[in-house]
Amino acid sequence: MKKRTWLVVVVLSLALALGGQTVDVAYAAKKFVSIASGWVVGVYYPLAGAISNIAHKNLPDIKITVESSGASVANAKLIASGDADMAILQNDIAYYALQGVKPMFDKPVKNIRGITALYQEHCQIQARKDAKIAAVTDLKGKRVCVGPLGSGTEQNALQILEAYGMKFEDFAKVERLTATESADYLKDGRIDAAFYSVGVGAAGLVDTAMTVDCVIVPIDGAPREALMKKYPFFTRAVVPKGAYKGVEQDVPTVAVMAILTAREEMDADTAYRITRVIFENLKDIERAHAKGRELTLETALTGMSIPLHPGAEKFFKEKGILK
Ligand code: GLU
Repeated sequence: MKKRTWLVVVVLSLALALGGQTVDVAYAAKKFVSIASGWVVGVYYPLAGAISNIAHKNLPDIKITVESSGASVANAKLIASGDADMAILQNDIAYYALQGVKPMFDKPVKNIRGITALYQEHCQIQARKDAKIAAVTDLKGKRVCVGPLGSGTEQNALQILEAYGMKFEDFAKVERLTATESADYLKDGRIDAAFYSVGVGAAGLVDTAMTVDCVIVPIDGAPREALMKKYPFFTRAVVPKGAYKGVEQDVPTVAVMAILTAREEMDADTAYRITRVIFENLKDIERAHAKGRELTLETALTGMSIPLHPGAEKFFKEKGILK
């Protein structure tokens, strides 16, 4: 080969090597953040997806991945073990995690910190119309899904039944199914009713109501008062008429708050930038699910049941939401 050709080859290989290296450096410098979310047919999962997209568009050095899960209880455990950096979960369960309330948690999840409150999640008991369940007490002797394994839903189901003087043993059959499965089981008539603590308008419930005649069973009167007294994270709420096909009037129930959390070990700068970018792109959150509309700067700390992550704290102080 001629001298010049050699030179070209050397320069080209050097450029390639360096180019390749640049890519590797960029990859290595990327920060990977995982969010434990929830049910594919729920609201956590689409919302976490929106957060991941926002980061993708606006924070080139941070890559957020989203995992589906049973949800609240499982997610708090993923934060404890470090298998998730962030998680969406119910504010009641986050508090029980921090305190280490048994039998839900064997030990306190000391490293769980708040980023922001998200939206209200309603306790919704969806039942097939042909099962003739007009009240919680009519669930006796029925086949009932009490929520997925590791869900906040199951804990809420236990608490609601307690307020009515009932137990899982009162059911003819107790199922713990993913939300996708429980929707299918309801449609096929393999179960009569299913508990869900989830944002109104979750795909699983909408879809079931489109396929089979359904009702939402009310939680009201003295049992509801007793429930809120014993478990103060519950607030009075209604599933509004028209929320699902066949729901012709407002249905009284209780609600908790969904919150976004992070591990204490996550560096403050990353937590700060993720918090900020969420609030700078609320339109994208709304587009992911109608429930996203409830997320505002003014209500970001409403129902926050655990200490804030220092990164989120810095952001809310800057915005004057926190003193
Ligand atoms: N709140 C639910 C639970 O922890 C999860 C809801 C969702 O995935 O949107 O049981």
